[in-house]
Amino acid sequence: MKPTQVCIGMMDSRRPESVATVPAHHLTIVERLGRAVRRFLLVSGGGLLLGNVGLFMFPFPHLHLCLFPFALIFGPLIAWFGWASRVVLGASELPCPRCHGTVAVPAGTVGWPARFNCDRCAIMIELKPAR
Ligand SMILES: [Zn+2]
Repeated sequence: MKPTQVCIGMMDSRRPESVATVPAHHLTIVERLGRAVRRFLLVSGGGLLLGNVGLFMFPFPHLHLCLFPFALIFGPLIAWFGWASRVVLGASELPCPRCHGTVAVPAGTVGWPARFNCDRCAIMIELKPAR
């Protein structure tokens, strides 16, 4: 975990953002590729396996016919989201940009932008890397 400067803003808002420091793990290319491959194998591999085993176990082929497109479309899509996340944020606390209360950043939130809700006013808080 490396201290990283972030801009705290509200989603879809043009209000000036404040800057804070949060602990973040910056993923390397190998880690990002590993996350993508793991997600692809889990969704596509699991879906194809379940579809094929299901065809032998159950007398109706609809499960097989529906799981194949599901596995082949959602596997690469979810793998892409795993590849696209560049940092994993650690648990920390930040001031909410609207209600100014203290908000806990959930550990394991991925960015950029990292998004989570304020517990008190329920707005979507968006963290971006500070320039
Ligand atoms: Zn709030």
